[in-house]
Order: sequence, then structure tokens, then C-alpha cells
Amino acid sequence: MKKIVIIGGGVAGLSAGIFAQKNGFNSIILEKHHTVGGECTGWDRQGYHIDGCIHWLLGTKEGTPIKKLWETVGALNGVGIYDPESFMAVEHDGVIVHFYRDIGRMRSNWLEISSEDKDSIEEFCRDIKKLNSFTVPVAKPMDMMSIIEKIKFIISMKNAGAIMQKYDKVSVQDLSKKFKHPALREAISSFMPEGDYSASSVIFPLGTFTGGQSSIPIGGSKALAMRMMNRYRSLGGIIETSCEAVDLDITGDTVRSIKCKNGKSFEADYIIVACDAHVLYEQLLKGQYPDPEFQKRYNNPEVYPLASNIYVGIGYEGTMDNIPRTLKFPVKPIDINQNQKPIEHLQMTHYAYEPDFAPKGHTAITFAINQFQPELDRWQALVEDRDAYNTEKTRIGESVIQAMETRFPHMKGKLRLLDVATPQTYKRYCNAYQGAFMGFWPTIPGKPLTHTGHVKGLNNIVLSGQWLQPPGGLPTALITGKDSIMRLCKKTNQPFIR
Ligand SMILES: Cc1cc2nc3c(=O)[nH]c(=O)nc-3n(C[C@H](O)[C@H](O)[C@H](O)COP(=O)(O)OP(=O)(O)OC[C@H]3O[C@@H](n4cnc5c(N)ncnc54)[C@H](O)[C@@H]3O)c2cc1C
Repeated sequence: MKKIVIIGGGVAGLSAGIFAQKNGFNSIILEKHHTVGGECTGWDRQGYHIDGCIHWLLGTKEGTPIKKLWETVGALNGVGIYDPESFMAVEHDGVIVHFYRDIGRMRSNWLEISSEDKDSIEEFCRDIKKLNSFTVPVAKPMDMMSIIEKIKFIISMKNAGAIMQKYDKVSVQDLSKKFKHPALREAISSFMPEGDYSASSVIFPLGTFTGGQSSIPIGGSKALAMRMMNRYRSLGGIIETSCEAVDLDITGDTVRSIKCKNGKSFEADYIIVACDAHVLYEQLLKGQYPDPEFQKRYNNPEVYPLASNIYVGIGYEGTMDNIPRTLKFPVKPIDINQNQKPIEHLQMTHYAYEPDFAPKGHTAITFAINQFQPELDRWQALVEDRDAYNTEKTRIGESVIQAMETRFPHMKGKLRLLDVATPQTYKRYCNAYQGAFMGFWPTIPGKPLTHTGHVKGLNNIVLSGQWLQPPGGLPTALITGKDSIMRLCKKTNQPFIR
């Protein structure tokens, strides 16, 4: 039986492992951390559970190919799905703009706010609706399709493709300027900071959300990863945790074995690299097998920006009745790690629908404060001084509590800071390049990366994970994990078993 060593036990690595076992390979996952899941995780603090990932999961709609794929890897079987009524609500000067799941309701809400924006509202809602029936292709990567399959795929993408092309060429800020009312402008522009960020990152999530394709699995991110881990183990897969790959033993065009920080070494016929792409190219391959597509992006962060988060967990001794699940509200400016512009809004998500995430009568709450360049570099510099770094984390956490108490005076004295993660947290625990939580972010001048995962010059190694294709995130990790085994099956001349 051919042996596959998988480096990284995030969703991509687990997916690869499950399909490796299903296809008769003998596989082992090496994971740096003491548990699997990677960025799809959650952690417990002071009696609360902080869900560290899923705000919406693409693939929760019955009958869609991606839902079936999630079920094959054991992620969603028999799991309740929470369908939030709104993607997000944004407050501006006392007006609340809702991105409702029901597009008719969203349209009415927006028209009530600004009837003079009727034409732009109608167009926006119409375009969102056109994406409702878009189904993520999961069967095969493009480069493995036959001509006929490619033609069928292109035809199936006709509607969605036209909308995505339209929004690819518009920046988020320009899209917001199509609306006259400041609250509607604010709602759109709050998706991304100023810059060339393409409006596809607004329309795509709204299209799939309002089409009922993305919701939230009950139990959250960590539980989803644990179900995948159980599926992998039930198929005979082996997991080595606290086992960071640090070196590859290469002869000619073949990787023979993987050396780990803990002194262990693993021989392999094939290697799937399901960790961060930068770790592969710079640490494991020591810059000797550079990939032009990745190089171009790493060297040009303005066109290919990365995003990470400051993630604040808060426990509230109370219930969040009538407060939207995800709410963006204005706050007195908060300085973040000496950034040029203090932040003026906070995005809060509460987990009232998950009673097990908090003691009885309490609610778990998280805040996601997006960080881009040059903020990511500043976190990298700050972490060198551990005391200053910890002080800054606490200061940010306390500022968030203060802002909450101002916005929700009835919560005063009932909020508890549980934890503050920064871009460096994702780097420390997951080896995530710059702490990035998706791949390269779509911009107008940037070209989306679609990568086969092959490393030029090496014949038995395949890369998978969130970096390889748009839109990134968990679906890409799932699909590319599966694809990497399809590629190995092709190499070994065996049919792929789904
Ligand atoms: C706050 C937050 C919110 C998010 N929200 C969503 C959401 O709502 N929807 C969505 O779809 N996505 C979301 N994401 C993104 C999603 O979590 C990631 O895209 C996805 O989990 C990436 O999976 P991956 O397997 O490709 O990579 P990772 O999760 O990064 O997994 C890589 C694994 O490799 C391990 N590793 C790294 N280096 C080594 C090494 N040398 N040796 C051994 N192991 C190694 C790491 O420890 C890690 O476990 C969110 C992410 C964050 C952080």
C-alpha cells in the first residue's frame, strides 16, 4: 500500500486524509499543534466557548454537491443547521441597515431607509439574486476536466460568471458610492477598507447567503473539525499531533522523508502539504523551488493583500434578545497597535443560538477586527516584545468592553474579557503566513490564483489548502484536500473513489 504523509491537520489536511484512506492509501497526518482543525477551531475560557471561525459556511444547503462533499468527510452528517435571518446589520447614525437572508425583506428595509436609491437598490438586489443558484463546482479541478466537462462547466457558470465579472471590476468603495444615503454607503463600504478591494467580496457572500447555501452548523467550528477527525480515524487514518514538519529529505525529484521538530522522521511515497503555502516554499523547501505565481503575490502585497483578524472573546452575563447576531456599530475611535487610522466601528457576533457556548443565562460574544497591511507587519514587530504585545492585547480587549458598555448601557458591569487573538496568534498556532485567514484577497488589478498544487521539480508532492483557489476559506480547504488525492490517484493510475 502506498504511503502518504500529510503535513497539516486543518480542514484541507483532514479532507485529504479521509480521501486518501477511502482510496486505499496508507496515510498519516502530521500536525504542529496539539489538536487538529487548524484555523477551523474554537477554545474554552472561563466557562464560555469562543468559536474561532465559522461565521457562515458555504455548503449547508441540502442537495448541493458541496453539501454532499461536507457529508462525505463527516462534517455535517446529522448536524443541526442554524439559519440566521441576517448576514449582518450595520448601524449608522441611528439607522440600521440589514443584509437579510430574505432578499425581498432586505429590499424593503433599504427602500424604507432611502427611496431615492430605488434604482441602485433594485439593481443590487437583482444581482445578488442572480447568484442564488450558483453551485460551487466540486467534482474536479479545472485542469483535470475533459474538454466536454469544461464546456459544461463554463455553461453552468454563465449567470454567476457575468455577475462576478461585473463586480470584480468595481471597488467596494465605488459600489458604496452608487448609493446616496450615508447609511447604505456605510453598510457596503464596511465590508472592506479603502483601496482596490473588489466588490466580488460583497456580492458573493450575499449571493450564496440569500440563496440559502451558507449557514452555520450547530456546535461550531471546533466540533466540525472534530467530526472530520473522527471520520478520518474511523477509516484507519493516523494523526501525530505536536509534530511540526521542519525539513524534507529530497533525492533528485523525489521527497523521500519528512523530518519533524520533535526528532521524528517519516518516510513517504507521496506528500500532501496541507499547511500554509509559505511554509512549504520558504521553510520546507528553503526557497529552492520558488513558484512564480506565489512569488508574484508575496512580492506585491498591494495588489495581492492578505487579511487577518484581532479576535476578541467576551462573556456576557445576560441574554441578547432582539440584537442581530452580527452587528456593526459605530464607536468612539479606538487606536489599534499604533495604526494610522483608529477604528470607528466594531463588528460583534453573538452566539445566543448556542446555549452550550456559555453558562446558563449568559451569552458568548466575539468581535472581529480585520487587519491588513501594514498592520500585519506591525503585529509581527510588536510580538518581539512579549510584554508590550500582551499589554496591547489587553488594552484592545478593554477598549472593546468600554465601547460595548457605551452602546449597550444595560450591559455595564456584566461583560468579561475572555481572550484576545491577534494575527500573530494565527501565526503561532497554525503557521499562517502573516496570520492570514483566507488566501489572497480579491482586488481589481489582482488576478485570482488557481493553482494545481504541483511543485515544479518535485514529482511526489502536492500542495492543498485555502491558498489555492478563490474564494478561499473552508470550502476551498475541503475541495483542494479532496483534489490532492484525485491527483495522486491519477498518478497511480487508479480510479478515484468519492
Ligand atoms: C477568525 C476567523 C474566521 C473565519 N471565518 C470563516 C468563515 O466564516 N467561513 C469560512 O469558510 N472560512 C472562515 N475562515 C477561514 C478558514 O478558517 C480557513 O480558510 C480554513 O480553516 C483553512 O484551512 P486549511 O486547512 O487550508 O489551513 P489551516 O487551517 O491553516 O491548516 C493548516 C494546518 O497545518 C498545520 N501546520 C502548519 N505548518 C505545519 C508544519 N510545518 N508541520 C505540521 N503542521 C503544520 C497548522 O497548525 C494547521 O493545523 C475564518 C478564519 C478565521 C481565523
